[in-house]
Amino acid sequence: MINEKMAGLGKKRSVIREIFEYAKLRKAEIGAENVFDFSIGNPSVPTPKAVTVALERLIKEKDPVALHGYTSAQGDLGVRQSIAKHIESKFDFKADPNLIYMTCGAAASLTICLNAIVNAGDEVIVLAPFFPEYRVFAEKAGAKLIEVLCREGDFQIDFTALEKAINAKTKGIIVNSPNNPTGAVFSEETVIKLATLLNKKQAEYGTYIYIIADEPYRELVYDMSVPYIPKYYNNTLVCYSYSKSLSLPGERIGYIFVSPNANNSGEVYAAVCGAGRSLGFVCAPSLLQYTVGECADVLPDLTVYRKNRDLFLDALTEYGYTVVPPDGAFYLFVKSPEEDAYAFCDRAKKYEILLVPSDDFGCKGYVRICYCVETDQIKRALPKFKALMEEYK
Ligand code: PLP
Repeated sequence: MINEKMAGLGKKRSVIREIFEYAKLRKAEIGAENVFDFSIGNPSVPTPKAVTVALERLIKEKDPVALHGYTSAQGDLGVRQSIAKHIESKFDFKADPNLIYMTCGAAASLTICLNAIVNAGDEVIVLAPFFPEYRVFAEKAGAKLIEVLCREGDFQIDFTALEKAINAKTKGIIVNSPNNPTGAVFSEETVIKLATLLNKKQAEYGTYIYIIADEPYRELVYDMSVPYIPKYYNNTLVCYSYSKSLSLPGERIGYIFVSPNANNSGEVYAAVCGAGRSLGFVCAPSLLQYTVGECADVLPDLTVYRKNRDLFLDALTEYGYTVVPPDGAFYLFVKSPEEDAYAFCDRAKKYEILLVPSDDFGCKGYVRICYCVETDQIKRALPKFKALMEEYK
């Protein structure tokens, strides 16, 4: 007898992947230029030059045996030192390379962290709307997922709802800012309030509640800064990824940073290493580790994303759509003009516009638009969005 739950997961793709696969088929049928695919967060800007230069140089100059060989399970020490230095200079926060663990991207970081902290019967809170894979990762780690809806309108944390959801079984809370799918960034005020609440609850229950800060979009922020959570709350594990910031999603590279101020940080780090080991992550890809080690300070060029965001936001608002103005990431969260977001997405399909309904993000009645696409695709899609809205008038 196989594991039926795993077979179920394998047979049923996530709604995002489902639309992504449909888009591929449709593009083959009617031509890529006729499909307006806003489904998946695959960065559209090329990898920064500094990264390709570093990659080429490493391939040409580094001893190939070392370059392609295993590193330590937690990652090459030199790479971790370079990342620790980056954290210290960027956030003015003390970072120990021996609390950094290199991973295959944020997905791996999240699974490892969840397995590191969760015991059977524990609860993990997610702030809805949330990245749907959180459910898969948390449940596999043995946690019960507890959803807490954010405030409608600005999608900041609803503290009354959050406080009600925390109890003695709460082991962690996943915080994703800038957020997929809303683009919301949690302000410093929100982060301070969150830290105060969690400290109060830890004291009340005599437990540790960890923040898992899922940060693949940290660098994708337009006009504000993203508070660095370890500065505000001690029991924090940062899950960073280079997928979006350096346009390297297929290369699978990121890291976990356990705050040195976490209670028993050494033990937490050991649990991270143990979870990585038990999940079969022998080490993160060596070539990519060395590359990000050399490019730890490289930032993405946001010109295109900013332009796409403004173009979309202005036009959709003019056509009568309600859009949550995003401060970061590369997503627009748009209220569906009809209650059923699936029905709206089906109607959009008639115009060859592919959107993701919000239901699987734990929040009904919206659609997510990824604007990490060629600007020209947006320009050509706008009249179709206008006609689509006309159907509701
Ligand atoms: N977390 C969020 C919020 C995401 O949007 C994604 C990918 O889209 C991930 C994690 C996984 O990122 P990675 O490609 O680094 O595994």
